[in-house]
Amino acid sequence: MPDDPTDAPDLPAGDFSAWLTGMRAAIRGDAASDVPCGTCTACCTSSQFVHVGPDEIDTLAHIPRAVLFPAPGLPAGHVLMGYDERGHCPMLIDDACSIYDHRPRTCRTYDCRVFAAAGVELDDADKQGIALRARRWRFRYASPTDHLQHDAVRAAARSLRDDLEHRPSDRASISATQLAVRAVDVAHTTGPGSDER
Ligand code: SF4
Repeated sequence: MPDDPTDAPDLPAGDFSAWLTGMRAAIRGDAASDVPCGTCTACCTSSQFVHVGPDEIDTLAHIPRAVLFPAPGLPAGHVLMGYDERGHCPMLIDDACSIYDHRPRTCRTYDCRVFAAAGVELDDADKQGIALRARRWRFRYASPTDHLQHDAVRAAARSLRDDLEHRPSDRASISATQLAVRAVDVAHTTGPGSDER
């Protein structure tokens, strides 16, 4: 069971502008996310399917074939790793990733601060561990640019959500994670992490 959010202290998420720059690099595939996870394994224990691409040769060599299956809707070679009856990734052993140095790209780029950045809540009952963690992040605003950029990301998320309200079929197929990541990607910002790229 996830921790009681009322007892959990805030978590420093870093300067918003610096985070935005790093997150956008991760979205483009230029860098891995640098998330201060500590001992948190919420994203490894939340009934998530982990995508592994055919180019991830090293990762595929460290995952038993038995826990991989073809990814629906993607070309041959793309696979998903499932989870056990508790919702845990099969590579999580003794509360630690047993293939950490070889973990999938999906895991390297996952950053639950994206929910705090976009103001998006995770509603799924099996992802409440991530939701509780995400609510604890607190960004720092060292300059007015940090505030402006955070406002822009939240505005982009609201706009995307409003747009989806008019397209119920699309609404059902887009996850909270996809919405938050998209808001970070498309927000019109200036300064560090700007969309002038
Ligand atoms: S591969 Fe490792 S980091 Fe990725 S979900 Fe599994 S245990 Fe977590």
